[in-house]
Amino acid sequence: MTQLAVVVPAYNEAAVLAEFHRRLRATLDALGLPHRVLYVDDGSRDGTWSVIESLLAGDAAVGALRLSRNFGKEAALTAGLDHCDADAVVVIDADLQDPPELIPQLVAAWREGYDVVYATRDGRAGESGLKRFTSAAFYRAMERLSATPIPRDTGDFRLLSRRAVLALRQLRERQRFMKGLFAWIGYRQTAVHFRRDARAAGGSKWSYWKLSQLAIDGITSFSAAPLRLATWLGLATAGLAFAYGIYVFIRALIWGDPVRGYPTLMLVILLLGGVQLLALGVIGEYLGRLFTEAKQRPLYFVEDERLRGEVDK
Ligand code: UDP
Ligand code: MG
Repeated sequence: MTQLAVVVPAYNEAAVLAEFHRRLRATLDALGLPHRVLYVDDGSRDGTWSVIESLLAGDAAVGALRLSRNFGKEAALTAGLDHCDADAVVVIDADLQDPPELIPQLVAAWREGYDVVYATRDGRAGESGLKRFTSAAFYRAMERLSATPIPRDTGDFRLLSRRAVLALRQLRERQRFMKGLFAWIGYRQTAVHFRRDARAAGGSKWSYWKLSQLAIDGITSFSAAPLRLATWLGLATAGLAFAYGIYVFIRALIWGDPVRGYPTLMLVILLLGGVQLLALGVIGEYLGRLFTEAKQRPLYFVEDERLRGEVDK
């Protein structure tokens, strides 16, 4: 069996893929382990697939999957993990933000007996202050809200042992927050530190809008805390309303009921309306998730499969 497989999801990465493969090849050659590289073309619209085809022609260790459309990185990663059979699998971005040169260190930690070796970045070169701030806030919120500790400043770049891959394959949920899933499976996990480079070419495919959706996905698929928030908000407003009701009642008994209080009425109606809509929104978030899970759709479809040699399933 192949000892090491490298899974590379790629979406519109034609500009960097050849350079990526050159650096990966150099690293793998130096490492000297039997290996496979599996590129997953996530429905790219640029020349990514033709670059992959030229890599297929020039390197016997390369295999490739082409998904039927753009399913998103999490699905592309899952497709890669479903299709590789090795003692250890490295998951790495194609844009050279994850240095392939780190792979020997990941492998060394795996040899010490770790099942999940994740690469934690010490710096975030080329990222704005706002991006750093939002990502720090997200990790802090996740730490508070979720029972599964998700390592900070850690992307998807990591090495998984065979049993970790088999465990991950069993998690078929549609809302795939991979960082959370990697942590959720447990086993022996450790970190290797590195400095993250800026992208070699092209722009990040994550807009702030998509990132905030990813954050909501992360929180709602690993924590029911927001639902509890609705309960607490409801209890607090009900308590306040009760106290205020008694006050109004007693005041009317003692001083009668001159018709006043338009501002208070307005305030109360608006506040209650707001709280109710917020709670409905939170419930809706979870209901939406239930809806996509209930449909039980496959996570991806493969259009073209070029698996060779030992890479099977
Ligand atoms: N990617 C993918 N499908 C997508 C978006 C991204 O397979 O829909 C791949 C992309 O080609 C890259 C990796 O996922 O190899 C990380 O993407 P990106 O650099 O855009 O994300 P970031 O580094 O900003 O987290
Ligand atoms: Mg990137």
